[in-house]
Amino acid sequence: LGDEEIETSEIQIFYKEEPEYQNLSQNSSPPSEVAPLKIRNYQLELALPAKEGKNTIICAPTGCGKTLVSLLICEHHLKKFPQGRKGKVVFFAIHLPLYEQQKSVFSQYFERRGYKVAGISGATSENVVVDQIVENNDIIILTPQILVNSLKDGTIPSLSVFTLMMFDECHNTSKHHPYNMIMFNYLDQKLGGSSDPLPQVVGLTASVGVGDAKNRDEAMEHICKLCASLDASVISTVKDNLQELTEVVYKPEKNFRKVESRTTDGFKCIISQLMRETESLAKSIFDELGAVTPENLSRFQNRDFGTQKYEQWIIAVQKACIVFQLPDKAEESRICKALYLYTSHLRKYNDALIISEHARMKDALDYLKDFFNNVRAAGFDETEQDLTRRFEEKLPELESVSMDPSNENPKLKDLCFILQEEYHLNPETRTILFVKTRALVDALKKWIEENPKLSFLKPGILTGRGKTTNNTGMTLPAQKCALDAFRTNGDNKILIATSVADEGIDIAQCNLVILYEYVGNVIKMIQTRGRGRAKGSKCFLLTSNADVIEKEKMNMYKEKMMNDSILSLQAWDEAIFKEKVCQIQIHEKSIRDSQGKAKPVLDKKNKKLLCRKCKAFACYTADIRVVEECHYTVVGNAFRECFVCRSHPKPKIFGSFEKKAKIYCAREDCSHDWGICVKYKTFEIPVIKIESFVVEDIATRVQTLYAKWRDFNFEKIPFDAAEMSN
Ligand SMILES: [Zn+2]
Repeated sequence: LGDEEIETSEIQIFYKEEPEYQNLSQNSSPPSEVAPLKIRNYQLELALPAKEGKNTIICAPTGCGKTLVSLLICEHHLKKFPQGRKGKVVFFAIHLPLYEQQKSVFSQYFERRGYKVAGISGATSENVVVDQIVENNDIIILTPQILVNSLKDGTIPSLSVFTLMMFDECHNTSKHHPYNMIMFNYLDQKLGGSSDPLPQVVGLTASVGVGDAKNRDEAMEHICKLCASLDASVISTVKDNLQELTEVVYKPEKNFRKVESRTTDGFKCIISQLMRETESLAKSIFDELGAVTPENLSRFQNRDFGTQKYEQWIIAVQKACIVFQLPDKAEESRICKALYLYTSHLRKYNDALIISEHARMKDALDYLKDFFNNVRAAGFDETEQDLTRRFEEKLPELESVSMDPSNENPKLKDLCFILQEEYHLNPETRTILFVKTRALVDALKKWIEENPKLSFLKPGILTGRGKTTNNTGMTLPAQKCALDAFRTNGDNKILIATSVADEGIDIAQCNLVILYEYVGNVIKMIQTRGRGRAKGSKCFLLTSNADVIEKEKMNMYKEKMMNDSILSLQAWDEAIFKEKVCQIQIHEKSIRDSQGKAKPVLDKKNKKLLCRKCKAFACYTADIRVVEECHYTVVGNAFRECFVCRSHPKPKIFGSFEKKAKIYCAREDCSHDWGICVKYKTFEIPVIKIESFVVEDIATRVQTLYAKWRDFNFEKIPFDAAEMSN
């Protein structure tokens, strides 16, 4: 694992919308006595094929109560065994919050009925005996990686220990997702001719998706492939009880509003000029350094001012010129700091352009004034003074442009119109307004508060916890607090949110969803629409970009294609469908097997590793040792001279490692991110990522780049503690 992979394996916390399990959803702390469940006819319909023992994918909209369907199937399954035999169910949840929720729902439902329920998640797996827990319980809730690991190390010898496997959010069963790793094991057993019984498989999802399909045939292929991955012979959807379903899950109509942008934009002209100036100041530093330019510092190309792409580029450059804390290492410190200041200013200007594009110029200007006030209050060195002076020179011009009523943003007029109209029709309306960035959330909140026509809305905000942005996002308790206020406080009529809030928020009474310059893929769209499921709900997409509307129409087309494809597949004869699924499974297995076997020949020649940014020599491949099969360290004292450590912003423990610091190229003016420094057993060792280096053949001097260690076939010598002690 490289450092990056460790970062991304962090578990996202989000709010599961789901009152899936109706009676529990009303209370934040579940009651000990569960009220009798109201089972709807469509839920019985959805559960039927699985109750008959068929491997099934259950596809039904968010909010219709799929959890109850899974409880019904599970209960029926456990009860059907004759005296002396027992069933064993495993239920998979992809995220920790989902896991927690399902574990509590299953425990409450089944423990009263005399079944034993247990759960193991990534957070609890450290000191538990997985096989014992599986042995001693009837229902086991897992995050899927736990089972992948247990199958790999043999703790669980075979999936035959289970009689039923249930996959929540089963559309994830593809590529190298842990769900698919589990199913690879299942299919190897099925196709390998083992006589051990295999568990029944049931998948649950709101949308099977269509992948990149452009027509119905391709969509059908995609869905068949998902069925093959889950060994499903039936797709269960609501058909006989559609009327009842639409009463529970209302599907609001989507309205598209194409709005015009400003025709002339004096604000953008001035800010763009300031950005060009700042970029050339940064560039002059690079020129001073010689070969290194901002372009080869980062791979983003063709960047336009005022875009999210530009922001990504700036973040990448900033990462590459990380600031030194030592004022004495004068030269490096001076350069890094100046670059940091230039890039921070560029980032703020970029933010301001995005704000001005979607909100008022005044909001964008306030944002910049705020920023410069903070700059003035802090260090305020020569570079900052220079940048501030350049901004102040333009300030009067910016002020007058943003005060000019002819520069009012036509998009906001349209948004105001929609809100007035909807609140006129129904004063009890509750709105969620999705926007792209955190800064826009603040700008729109201010705009609503300062707009006499809308100030009655008393907006609340909900944003992510801000991992990548300068301003720290909301904390988890703050998020919960904002949601509670929106739910319980009648005055708080509108919630302005970023995409982070998109998946699974429980906003019960929301009946107006406004997507303000906002798009997503088809699965995302269905979930977003799940927010406004109260009857009479509406959804508006407001944009000045015709592409955005096109893209969203494409999503709707894909959804229709998906539904049509499912209908045609359901019309197939079950035996023929099973045969088709089996053909795909055999084909996919042969691809997997051949990929596994065709291992390229080991290259035993010693090679050099050079810093990818400055090409300084780092180490030889002969000095690399592999720790626990996937981490790569370098032995010998020579290498220790080549890097510097800086304490990690988020030290943490993963497996048998304790992440202590990040390591960087020791060359002045390079500081390229090489990896991390960890405590492993009694050793403090560097762990490097191959994507930070260039591999050079010693004889031919041919250079090769690798993104992953597993792609790089050199003689991989296992780490040996004895060698370290010598
Ligand atoms: Zn370097």
